[in-house]
Amino acid sequence: MGYQSVNPADGKVLKTFKDLTDKELESKIAAAATCYESWRRKTYAERGKIVSKAAALMHAKVDELAHIMTLEMGKRINEARGEVEFSSSILAYYAKNAERFLANVELHPSLGDGHMESSPLGVVFCVEPWNFPYYQLARVAGPHLMAGNVLLVKHAGIVPQCAIAFEKLWIEAGAPVGLYTNLMISHDQSDRVVDDPRVKGVALTGSVAAGQSIAARAGKNLKPSSMELGGSDAFIVLDDADLEHTIKWAVWGRMYNTGQTCCAAKRFIVVDKLADKFLEKFRTALSNLKPGDPLDEKTTLGPLSSESALVDLLKQVDTAVSHGAKVLMGGKRVDRAGSFMQPTILTDVMPENPAFRDEFFGPVAMFFRVKDEDAAIALANDSDFGLGGSVFTRDLARGKRVASRVETGMMFINNISWSDAELPFGGIKDSGYGRELGDMGIQQFVNKKLVRYVAAEAPV
Ligand code: NAP
Repeated sequence: MGYQSVNPADGKVLKTFKDLTDKELESKIAAAATCYESWRRKTYAERGKIVSKAAALMHAKVDELAHIMTLEMGKRINEARGEVEFSSSILAYYAKNAERFLANVELHPSLGDGHMESSPLGVVFCVEPWNFPYYQLARVAGPHLMAGNVLLVKHAGIVPQCAIAFEKLWIEAGAPVGLYTNLMISHDQSDRVVDDPRVKGVALTGSVAAGQSIAARAGKNLKPSSMELGGSDAFIVLDDADLEHTIKWAVWGRMYNTGQTCCAAKRFIVVDKLADKFLEKFRTALSNLKPGDPLDEKTTLGPLSSESALVDLLKQVDTAVSHGAKVLMGGKRVDRAGSFMQPTILTDVMPENPAFRDEFFGPVAMFFRVKDEDAAIALANDSDFGLGGSVFTRDLARGKRVASRVETGMMFINNISWSDAELPFGGIKDSGYGRELGDMGIQQFVNKKLVRYVAAEAPV
């Protein structure tokens, strides 16, 4: 454990940080609890002023923030800038819409009148992953701060400088002490934060193992939680798909963020009629990607986030191969400094192969050939995960039919535009529960209180 920035493009250690002591942690939890008592009473306009200011600061500092991210976890600089801008727009979206989302809802019971009102719960503890170092933070900060909660945030050990930069935005935006607090803490300390009675809710984005651990802890304490976990999304290509259009999305869907996206396309399921052509074009497109410095805008293949991520992924590929998978291309590290992996396609992954049910968190695509639409859907659903998925067809009605039959939290037709401030994001099965973003995202940690008025005497 520990918090350390290492540039994955060259392996150089940039900065090392110490975990908080238990005493420091206690004073940060106490400050958050104190802050909540005044923050909960602020109007939406007052909260919105600070959240909008943080959004504006993100936008103004796009280059600086993107640079930190690229150095620390290897995201290609253009993608990094895009993530900063998107994070800023999420904050702005909630600053603008929170009051509307949380307005009282009038109810019409058979007797009398009633309404449902929304109020914050208190201190919410968030555990976040490195793959989108700012977007993940904006996804919790925008909605939950606007709802009147305050946040304690444990970011991933490999992105401490991003975590600090995001916390600084709030300080610069004029946030009161305790409103948004970055915690560099161990897993044991995280457990104790979940147990702390001042903490009223827990949100985690990360692996299934982390989700199981933190959700169990939250459950033991009867605290509400939301879990955004892994995925192994199907990319279904039907016989009437526009192949040129489909291939571009296939490459983007697998390779964006060097394949380290929860809802990346990971299982390519193609009907027999197009399978050979798809595979040939997909392979050609992937082999055109050139590894290089992620700070260079011309680079088309960045490093993985860390050396251990690369080592683990290579082992996963080896395990898949030892259980019968074939490597159509790639499968090895790139022969250069830094943690680069060759774009890889695996075929012949049978159900008894552990890879069949695994998530490959990097540039490794599994390819499956199926006889028709029904077989594609059956294979897509034969997964422990249920995050997203996509279907490519020229027939929109057919696309919608297939989308309805795939058991996931999100489906995309002829595109994979995963995320939008206005659209709910999340999954089912091992991909977790709860939704972030959109109207649903702000409802996760609020008390929905029923207030009923009936002008009637008690029955005798
Ligand atoms: P990870 O190891 O689970 O780490 C995620 C966060 O959880 C980090 O802050 C990590 O801290 C913390 N953590 C891990 N185990 C913990 C424990 N027992 N107690 C307390 N905190 C714990 O995940 P990752 O490998 O970095 O991230 C990739 C995973 O996240 C993939 O499975 C991906 O699909 C998933 N993901 C899901 C979404 C979504 O919205 N569904 C979005 C992005 C990523 P340390 O770094 O200090 O260990």
